[in-house]
Amino acid sequence: MPSDTAHSLWFDHALLPDGWARRVRLTMADGVISAVEAGTERGAHETDHGVALPGVADLHSHAFQRAMAGLTEGRGPASAGGERDDFWSWRALMYRFLDRGGPEEIEAITAYAFMEMLEGGFTRIAEFHYLHNDIDGRPYADPAELTARIVAAAEATGIALTLLPVFYAHATFGGAAPSQGQRRFITDLDQFAQRVEAGRRLTARLPDGVVGVAPHSLRAVTPDELAHMPALAGNGPIHIHVAEQTKEVEDCLAWSGRRPVEWLLDHAPVDPRWCLIHATHVTEPEWREIARRGAVVGLCPITEANLGDGVFPAAAYAEAGGRFGIGTDSNVQIGLSEELRMLEYSQRLSLRGRAVMADAARSTGRALFDRAHAGGAQACGVAASGLAVGAPADVLALDHGRIAFAGRDGDALLDSWIFGGDRSALRSVWRRGRQVVIDGRHIARDTIEARFRRALASVVQA
Ligand code: ZN
Repeated sequence: MPSDTAHSLWFDHALLPDGWARRVRLTMADGVISAVEAGTERGAHETDHGVALPGVADLHSHAFQRAMAGLTEGRGPASAGGERDDFWSWRALMYRFLDRGGPEEIEAITAYAFMEMLEGGFTRIAEFHYLHNDIDGRPYADPAELTARIVAAAEATGIALTLLPVFYAHATFGGAAPSQGQRRFITDLDQFAQRVEAGRRLTARLPDGVVGVAPHSLRAVTPDELAHMPALAGNGPIHIHVAEQTKEVEDCLAWSGRRPVEWLLDHAPVDPRWCLIHATHVTEPEWREIARRGAVVGLCPITEANLGDGVFPAAAYAEAGGRFGIGTDSNVQIGLSEELRMLEYSQRLSLRGRAVMADAARSTGRALFDRAHAGGAQACGVAASGLAVGAPADVLALDHGRIAFAGRDGDALLDSWIFGGDRSALRSVWRRGRQVVIDGRHIARDTIEARFRRALASVVQA
């Protein structure tokens, strides 16, 4: 595009990389921020857009699971005999859900989830894409059919995409054969390499797509297979689910004599390219070593609460300099402020303290937001992020006229948004300089929602 597409937006408050500024004009050209001026007067024809925040990356999602929200809250089949409902009974329901839903439905559900992410403050999504095969478990005629659908959903909504094709080959530790419920995920290494290549080809048409790889978990991947992943990732990120469940820790100990995070740190070249999703059940030596390696922990507070996973020791880890970001994972509810609130409250409940994620310089909301922003960008393989020259013009605006913000300034604006709970205060979102959310609604919501309704009618059976 020619540089005459330059335009500017004026904000009464803006969270810049070195802190809060007042009366800020952001100028953007070709989707990138080209100038940041603070202490400027608003021009006669400029609108006050309120409080500008940088867009945040959602570092973990299985978009299709959005369609299951609210459908797994009753007693599952596993608990009929008196057993507890837990992650594993939820997973059995999720697998049954995969008996339905072809490419059209997957794309419609994914677009709906991506749209809600933009409305909720996420401007990039790392899609942990493990649904590859047809309902009968065979590859589609085009093996990258569903990858193309994910890319199309990103295009339709405007969200930035970090595509993570998932390698999934086994049911549990030790290379066990996959179960029938896993047939839509299964690939061998050759097919997987082709899928990563297809992902690169398909995302090349996006303005700022990134491709990494995701070995699903130590359950689904053997050590030999895992060893291939860094080369397949190229310069992209590497994500893996790890230590989400205590049963997974027990099974890993039985298999290897090591805990999952301990095993991974000993056997894989974990470094800043890696993102350890959940890492819920870690010992202090494990989380200290994750922090030392500079990897990101991918916390998914709402999903982890919904699935009864447990609580990651985020306060101690962050205090030790550990990096983390936020994922929406099962997408049972999608929203940045809700995720940050859940993260802080889970820590408060387990530590019986207050303001546990705050530090000497920053309030709780500000420290959570800054860390989620930085960790999300790192885990998504993005070098430039934030309200700074050279970064994509991905901007959130809070409506500063809301009663929730009356008399608030600086960090208290974020605290009031996150803890005051006025979600609708997030009024506008720009992606690469284009406004995609206006008054809290995505510009294509009507079309995307109608298509989602049609998809639900065919995948959800009464
Ligand atoms: Zn996940």
